[in-house]
Amino acid sequence: MNTVTTLPSLQSATNDVCREFKQLNIYTDKLEDTSVSLSYAPWNFLENGHYDPNNNSVTVPALSTSAAFGPYCSLRDVLRHEFGHALLDHSPRLISAAEWKKIFGAPRGKPSPYEYDEEDFITPYANSGATVEEDFCELLMVWVRHKGDIKRYRYSRPGVYEKLQFVASVMRRLH
Ligand SMILES: [Zn+2]
Repeated sequence: MNTVTTLPSLQSATNDVCREFKQLNIYTDKLEDTSVSLSYAPWNFLENGHYDPNNNSVTVPALSTSAAFGPYCSLRDVLRHEFGHALLDHSPRLISAAEWKKIFGAPRGKPSPYEYDEEDFITPYANSGATVEEDFCELLMVWVRHKGDIKRYRYSRPGVYEKLQFVASVMRRLH
């Protein structure tokens, strides 16, 4: 399945997700400066979204083929995830080196050493072989989607719950 994104749908999703970040008190000035746009670049079509730290911008492909390879991801979830990359980029010391190692198992920029299992990883993409930042961004995506209410994971997925609690504590540092 290919996913087509139109400008009005991106605008509407961006408004919704910015409102969620505001309600959670994590809509920083730098996040407000982050641009969100539709990309027509073919190299972009293979992914759901992309954050570029060089120009503080999130791009979402107008046509995405990524759903053909992985599970479908809503436009709002894509933005919640990419805003996570933006927050990490804006505050490089938001999570200490020791915390990356302790909570995510590896330094920032390195892949997780653990195999995927549902108890400890919120989504398969969180442990897709890319860096531990993906784990953080997938957790943030779910935390924002649930508006910070994560107790549903407490007993069913204790490892995930612990990491979500950490994400919540990191977000409080932004206030
Ligand atoms: Zn990512």
